[in-house]
Amino acid sequence: MKKIALALIALATAIPAMAHKKPLLAINRVEPQNWWAGMHNSSLQLLVNARNISGATAEVDYPGVKVAGTVVTDNANYLFVNLELAADVKPGKFDIKFFKDGREITKHEYELKERAANSANRMSFTSEDAIYLLMPDRFANGDPSNDDMPGMVEKANRKADYGRHGGDLKGVTEHLDYIADLGMTALWMTPILENNMEASSYHGYAITDYYNVDARLGSLEDYKVMCDKCHEKGIKVIMDMVFNHCGTNHWWMKDLPAKDWIFQWDGQYHGSSYRLSTVADMHASQYDLKLATEGWFDHTMADMNLGNELVKNYFIQNSIWWIETVGLDGIRQDTYPYSDKEAMREWNLRVREEYPNFNIVGEAWISQAEKLAYWQKDANNRDGYNSELPTIMDFPLMSALHAAFNENPGWDEGIIRLYNSLANDYLYANTNNILVMGENHDAGRLFTCVNKNIKSLKMATAFLATVRGIAQWYVGTEVLMEGDGARHCEIRRDFDGGWKGDAKDNFKARKGNEADMYDYVAKLFNYRKTSDALRHGDLLHFLPANEVYVYFRTTANDCVMVVINNNADKQTLDSARYAECLANYATGKDIISGSNVDLSNISVDGKTAMVIELKK
Ligand code: CA
Repeated sequence: MKKIALALIALATAIPAMAHKKPLLAINRVEPQNWWAGMHNSSLQLLVNARNISGATAEVDYPGVKVAGTVVTDNANYLFVNLELAADVKPGKFDIKFFKDGREITKHEYELKERAANSANRMSFTSEDAIYLLMPDRFANGDPSNDDMPGMVEKANRKADYGRHGGDLKGVTEHLDYIADLGMTALWMTPILENNMEASSYHGYAITDYYNVDARLGSLEDYKVMCDKCHEKGIKVIMDMVFNHCGTNHWWMKDLPAKDWIFQWDGQYHGSSYRLSTVADMHASQYDLKLATEGWFDHTMADMNLGNELVKNYFIQNSIWWIETVGLDGIRQDTYPYSDKEAMREWNLRVREEYPNFNIVGEAWISQAEKLAYWQKDANNRDGYNSELPTIMDFPLMSALHAAFNENPGWDEGIIRLYNSLANDYLYANTNNILVMGENHDAGRLFTCVNKNIKSLKMATAFLATVRGIAQWYVGTEVLMEGDGARHCEIRRDFDGGWKGDAKDNFKARKGNEADMYDYVAKLFNYRKTSDALRHGDLLHFLPANEVYVYFRTTANDCVMVVINNNADKQTLDSARYAECLANYATGKDIISGSNVDLSNISVDGKTAMVIELKK
């Protein structure tokens, strides 16, 4: 208080000297900071943050730009300006002038940029893709000079399990060949926006500025360069976005744009129950629904109120700004069902209104297929809800994969778990638009989940590379990285070779089992790139017998047969049983060994998978 009083006295004494002309009011922020001419949606809503700006009128003198109105909130320091942009508005810069009592109090230069050629018609990720997931702080340190940045609270410290380790965008850019050589066609990095928190925000999910790349990962320019290089190498870029919550150090937390900008519980912390079933449950109480979706995800993550139109518009425009600015090919949305489901539905529609081919995958971490299916676009939901979210993640299948290779076979145990999980596909509206993964940055590492058995890991890999849906691979499993999911730091270890002075370099000098596994993964995923059957073929599978699971992926012209023998012993298939598929083909080639396969006498070694390309 004392400091403020002194500042006011200082201001008062300064006034007489410039009383003839008041200085223009300082504007702290205008977001989005620019937009584009020629967007499908003619409306644009700007958040303007300046002291006592509320109640000002706005004027623009530029052909094709009209101020349609302003919106005020309960906070005098914010004004939302609604602009209408004509379809033929030209790219260019103009002033937005703000007036109070007939006097211009401030102005702001705004730019409508020119869109990249064919921007609206960009393609997105599909079942033809295999996505590589990595955490940029833990992948490669391409620029040690950004490990400790002015203004950023936390400095890099590789010895801290939950600290920042210094990995960055430049490090990713430098190793794109490694990812492409593995057969991956898309990159999903955990969030790269500013997380200026005191601790434990290396993962990126506590965003403190939705328009700023975290300085410790690099600059906006570094991100653009990485995206461009990805595209040159045939890698699509999927940005991880987080609308459900922001970091409690977000700049607006000091002066919220509106009281209901976030969910506040009378100043008390209320954590989410994480019970996502409440959102679709026709019997759920309002109490339980509210706690699940309005409770905070963590003490350090304030829960956003997307039911507020202004918040909703803010995030919809923010996502479009990133798509257009860096040329994104897709979005992964965090903690999907925790956000207002009507707002999220509108977000999907508005993104596709601008980019009709655009794909979005939502993290609905639900391990029961019938509950997960609710969240996919065009699901046949009894309450009539259509999420419009194209892609969901197959958590039920991930659980099945972890168990299948780790237990004694039984009626419902062992390899039949994979069959049973896929037998639930009738519940899903679109089985091509399901992300298939053995793990992610929040789950136990696949190698650890299969008891560090390389044969089991290879069978799981063959399954992931050949089953229906969009494949997702987690960084490091190709070089046998281990980690128990109970501690996040264990599953997010630094990639060997990403830091100068690392004892080994798995980017370039892989040895032994690590080299063998990398080659196995690369062979399968590079083959997947060339196989229409694996990328979008129909799936037909047979009930496992003797722990042998056989399925076929088929298009009009291509067919791939997959045999996963989870039995310890060599098994010979009864060809007659698979005649409905095999009868159409004369020859087969084992993709792993390259040798020909006699289709009348297929034998598979114990604990081994075979991927067989069939020819007529
Ligand atoms: Ca760095």
